[in-house]
Amino acid sequence: MRVVMKFGGGVLRDVAAFQRVARIISERKSEAPQDEYCVVVSAVYGVTDILIQGTREALGSSSAVAPFIRELRKLHSALTLGIQRDELRSELNDQLSLKIDRLLNSLTAVAERKALRPDEEDFIDSYGERLSCLLLAGYLKDAGSEAVALESEDAGIITDGNFGDARPLIPQVERNLHERLAPHLKAGRNVVITGYYGISVGGQVTTFGRGGSDYSAAILTACLNADALEIWKDVPGFMTASPRLVPQANFIPLLSFDEAEELSYFGAEILHPRTVDPLRDKGIVATIKNVFAPLEEGTMIGERRERTGGVIKSIAVKRDIALLTVKGIRDADVPGFAWDVFSAMQEAGVSVDAIATSQTDISFTISRADLAKAAEGLRQREKQDLISRWHYDDDMALVGVVGDGMRETPGVAGRVFTALSRTEGPINLEMISQGASEINISFVVKSSRVEECVRLIHEEFFGQRTA
Ligand code: ASP
Ligand code: MG
Repeated sequence: MRVVMKFGGGVLRDVAAFQRVARIISERKSEAPQDEYCVVVSAVYGVTDILIQGTREALGSSSAVAPFIRELRKLHSALTLGIQRDELRSELNDQLSLKIDRLLNSLTAVAERKALRPDEEDFIDSYGERLSCLLLAGYLKDAGSEAVALESEDAGIITDGNFGDARPLIPQVERNLHERLAPHLKAGRNVVITGYYGISVGGQVTTFGRGGSDYSAAILTACLNADALEIWKDVPGFMTASPRLVPQANFIPLLSFDEAEELSYFGAEILHPRTVDPLRDKGIVATIKNVFAPLEEGTMIGERRERTGGVIKSIAVKRDIALLTVKGIRDADVPGFAWDVFSAMQEAGVSVDAIATSQTDISFTISRADLAKAAEGLRQREKQDLISRWHYDDDMALVGVVGDGMRETPGVAGRVFTALSRTEGPINLEMISQGASEINISFVVKSSRVEECVRLIHEEFFGQRTA
């Protein structure tokens, strides 16, 4: 059996976390030595954000580089302290230090030029994974397990060269992994490999976008023809709602690929939405596992088998979004108008979440952080007289209600909206949309009302069963 395991930043926070993860992997390997383990890592918790921030500061002033690098060294070196064997620890510190030297060179060049090329940006952003990969391999060796640390370059994870949002070139990746990664697995070594990025045909680093190491893990799973993918978290799996909003939320044992994908789009911060694509193509099951309860089953994500649970599976919330409403010019045809609006978003590099249209208006949601870019794009269209008026509200949340069962059960929308009417003060639904997949209903509300909405819907669909 060949398994890909992915450990994200959320479970790589401190020395104890690295020890815990190394123990999980090495125990599995010693229980079933014939099984093969390929381990994909993200950066240590928060490090990608630190790198992005550090780059920004370096662009502002070259004197910011040295203290930034010092902090990064300190952070990673502190994480080697749990390694028991002295020679391993000092070897690991040397490796980390060499890596950080290369990052220092790159940041210094950026700071001197006061400009950042897209290839440099992705190169710098990839350093978190390079460092955590060395760390975890070190902890595995310390636990007595054979381990090799590979970077995406070594393994040949080839992409289309799209900076910040790359896609893999599957046939090349398959061939390269077969030649460069699989032999380690066959020789019984655990492979630890960097998530989040690959390289273009020309050898430039290209990331898969924020949160992209889930996607890396799915690509590796598919291209290595692995039997299973395990995504390790610090929670038991998918829940019927965020336990922070609904304390009595239930664990979900089984989800279809479609459901997992929809929930991820709606901000169920558990999986990168693109993760299911490579898995669905090959029919490989993914499991969300919990580092604090490694023997528990976790949520399984696979082909839809039987319908389990009720009509809906889960309610997800995406916060910090802006709702934009654009009016067309009079007598303009709607499809042309929609094209004007969405091409403006595409040119501005803004991704649109949910959309609703009427005869004269288009409403859609974007993440609040993209508002300035979106506004600029719309202003241009306004100047060209392609749209007439538009406005936005940036204090919104998007609620998504998801379940395969909606396809064959009429009246779900009615139940959702009836549930929402059971409030003291009326809740204004700013926008409602039903996905083309027919397995979701989503709506936009003011941020301040979102908790109430989720609780009411949860009560309607799961209330009786949660005692
Ligand atoms: N470290 C990257 C990020 O923070 C990738 C990942 O965590 O999946 O976005
Ligand atoms: Mg993640």
